[in-house]
Amino acid sequence: MGIKIPIETSARHMHISQQDFEILFGEGATPTFKKELSQPGQYVCEERITVVGPKGEFQNMALLGPTRSETQVEISLTDARKLGIPSFIRQSGDIEGTPGCTLIGPKGSLEIEKGVIVAKRHIHMTPSDAIRLHVKDNESVFVLTQSYERALIYADVIVRVHPDFRLSMHVDTDEANAFAGDDFPYGVIVKLFEGDNYNVNMWVEEVLQGINR
Ligand SMILES: [Zn+2]
Repeated sequence: MGIKIPIETSARHMHISQQDFEILFGEGATPTFKKELSQPGQYVCEERITVVGPKGEFQNMALLGPTRSETQVEISLTDARKLGIPSFIRQSGDIEGTPGCTLIGPKGSLEIEKGVIVAKRHIHMTPSDAIRLHVKDNESVFVLTQSYERALIYADVIVRVHPDFRLSMHVDTDEANAFAGDDFPYGVIVKLFEGDNYNVNMWVEEVLQGINR
């Protein structure tokens, strides 16, 4: 039997370092737990932050806890356009060379020099999920989505394996709207190219040259 991968939509949100949190919310302040998220240990905070770019801003952006070593803002491509910030599609935590923005909280504001990313779509799973699905950490896979009337096969989906993860694919709001799932959307990993990793841009070139695999 195949395995359904639940697909969850990450709306724009941010992670913050303890140091930056104190600049925005006052010395000694710590994030307040509001609601658990599907990945164990992750939660939504009561606190909200205004994120400002050259062209626009988002007030009340959701903040996720616990605090991390570096502040990171995760937005969609549509959000990036609204803020006027160039979009860098990156895995979470890989923020070297990415654009910054202004953050405003009730007690202060700060400029971050980097950390605004469009998260690369990914699947969280445990090591035993990875064995059942025949995939490895950091592998790039294809996922065919369930949908009403506009199913997609997503390429470039990164597998992320950790014992603390729960099986779930994360997409942003642009990606979720693009495949139009139902209330509990899911996808399945499809093995193309005999299950090998394959460079999708190379595939495009091959099709243009009349090579069919
Ligand atoms: Zn995720």
